[in-house]
Amino acid sequence: MDTDLAALLKVQDEDVTIHGLETRLAALEPRIRELDTRRGKALDAVERATATAGAEEKKQAYVREKIAEHKLLIERNQAQMDAVKTMKQATAAVAQMEQAKRIVATEESDLLAINRRLEEARGVLHSLQNELASIEAQQEAARGEVMAERAEIDGELAVVRAQRDAASAHVPAALLSRYDRIRGSRRVEAVFAMSGMACGNCDTAIPMQRRHVMSASGAVELCEACGVLMYFPG
Ligand SMILES: [Zn+2]
Repeated sequence: MDTDLAALLKVQDEDVTIHGLETRLAALEPRIRELDTRRGKALDAVERATATAGAEEKKQAYVREKIAEHKLLIERNQAQMDAVKTMKQATAAVAQMEQAKRIVATEESDLLAINRRLEEARGVLHSLQNELASIEAQQEAARGEVMAERAEIDGELAVVRAQRDAASAHVPAALLSRYDRIRGSRRVEAVFAMSGMACGNCDTAIPMQRRHVMSASGAVELCEACGVLMYFPG
């Protein structure tokens, strides 16, 4: 076999191996995405529950503050009661105090409702946090497997790519660029041995005269029907 052709076939062998490794690498992506999606959903739920509990905590703090303020007001009103001189002043002070007490009563009932909601929100948050932790624990092994597989494939790829580079140094530049162009990103293989009287890829028959020339010269030629390079197997 012609040495240029042999060198080219060696390059193609390495390219086919690279393609196989890249395909395996790409197949890992959906597995990683699936793990990420599941974890992401659990994480989102925890974040939403944290926000809900946080909002109730804020309301709780606000209402507690208001109750303290209004209770202080009642105390002050009570103290003022002692200082009132007239009946009219006394009536006004009582009315003011009664109103403040009603407000406090409403706020205290609000606070009870907030406390209940907060407790509930904390319960939901806690169970979602547990769920997230359990998903992460379950995924640890799966992620480890995927990462190990990826590292292994990356390692193999580095070796094969270096071999491809070394092999391509033995192929004449014009032939190599023709091969690269034909192979592009769509084809796994670009060079085919003729199969009997036809192109080994598309099975289009090659005229006898041309076959004869190819077999005599060992030339690598283009199949006009399908666009691959073909050679006469010797
Ligand atoms: Zn063909």
